[in-house]
Amino acid sequence: MIIVLKPGASEEQIKHIIDRVEELGLQHTVSRGTERTIVGVIGEEDVVRIQPLEAFPGVERVMEVLKPYKLVSREFHPADTIIDVNGIKVGGRRIVVIAGPCAIENRQMLEDIAKEVKRFGALMLRGGAFKPRSSPYTFQGLGEEGLKYIREIGSQTGLPVVTEVMDTRDVELVMKYADIIQIGARNMQNFNLLKEVGKVDKPILLKRGLMATVKELLMSAEYILSQGNFKVILCERGIRTFEDSTRNTTDISAVPVIKRESHLPVLVDPSHATGKWNLVGPVSKAAVAIGADGLLVEVHNQPEKALSDGVQSLLPRKFGEMMEILKPIAKSVGRSL
Ligand code: PEP
Ligand code: MN
Repeated sequence: MIIVLKPGASEEQIKHIIDRVEELGLQHTVSRGTERTIVGVIGEEDVVRIQPLEAFPGVERVMEVLKPYKLVSREFHPADTIIDVNGIKVGGRRIVVIAGPCAIENRQMLEDIAKEVKRFGALMLRGGAFKPRSSPYTFQGLGEEGLKYIREIGSQTGLPVVTEVMDTRDVELVMKYADIIQIGARNMQNFNLLKEVGKVDKPILLKRGLMATVKELLMSAEYILSQGNFKVILCERGIRTFEDSTRNTTDISAVPVIKRESHLPVLVDPSHATGKWNLVGPVSKAAVAIGADGLLVEVHNQPEKALSDGVQSLLPRKFGEMMEILKPIAKSVGRSL
């Protein structure tokens, strides 16, 4: 940690800071320039982080040298993490496409969509039973009934299933049915929920929050790993910006940024990232080309009648066309689809 003092900070102020650093059992180096003095603190950064050093008289700025996350970082685990989900490897050479409806609306629609996406090369099935809707008056999901449908259809088609949990009280329930537990964007900083899924032995798909930085996403992942669950898959799903031509702004460079910082696999969700079905293909192409380990795509057989996110849902046929277009792109970056 580096403490930059204000120009003209007094000797008394410098001594006050050094005394505090020593009290904490840490070492320090003081470098006195012509304009200002800098104090370097050596030792456990965590001990210093909780000190309000920025509030000390004479201090201008405190800069951290170490990162606020450890277990998710490449320094801790240099090789890419590969997560095995019933034999399907997320983070390996093969790009994993997870597809399905936004919400499980009934058994038949889920079955029809699952068969179609499987035929076109999806490796897993998605579908929400607990939906985080902006309005309390819109469809909230089928709850356990929906979980039963997705489990049945997943087993029937051989597709592992991904579904969201929104509440700590439902973790045990969702665990019974899901192969991957999704933590949605709105819950990325629900720290109690993160700690809860950190205790389970199931892969977690952690979506980036609407207003979260990459650093915050990684800190949220750290919550899960810190509880012992190292099977975390990250997902870029677009962030809020001033741009209103799309539902969210796809932060496509987040993929290589995360890959540099962390060993965890990264997916892109082009559906929520754009909010428009005709942008799902173009963003998916970019995602594959830039190094994403997979895609999370919303597909509906009757988008105009969908109970949620119909506007951004691809028809199965369009999904199939997109998969064909993605194949040579995957190949060009040394991956397969
Ligand atoms: C979803 O995947 O259905 C979803 C609600 O996504 P997000 O949490 O990214 O909005
Ligand atoms: Mn959705």
